[in-house]
Amino acid sequence: MSKNSNEAALILIVEDNEKNRRLLRDVLEYSGYRTLEAVTGEEGVKMAREHNPALVLMDIQLPGIDGFEALAQLRAHPSTRETPVIAVTASAMLEDRDRIDTAGFDGYESKPIKVKKLLARIQLTLERPAAAEQ
Ligand code: MN
Repeated sequence: MSKNSNEAALILIVEDNEKNRRLLRDVLEYSGYRTLEAVTGEEGVKMAREHNPALVLMDIQLPGIDGFEALAQLRAHPSTRETPVIAVTASAMLEDRDRIDTAGFDGYESKPIKVKKLLARIQLTLERPAAAEQ
């Protein structure tokens, strides 16, 4: 099902840190996106199934299930299998980056967030055919 191109894309922010969540929300809404926020991975998976966002920004370190498990649950469900998921994490450790690459995320941004870089990645990801078909 294709969405009205005039409709602002809906982005789900999954982030347990309130300051980071607010920053992401403010940056995205200022840029014209609509946003939804989840504080835990479980909540994020539930909201993604209910609201079918165009893209998910996924923190890795979360209370309860982490970003890797949340991604796996999104990929396991038909309604969110194709939803683009960008990992957002403070961890700059190489092994985590390798794990992020192999886990099937659609991209990776490190904290602290570089706003222009994040927005460029979101735009590119939304423009990809797999995302546009949703
Ligand atoms: Mn976190």
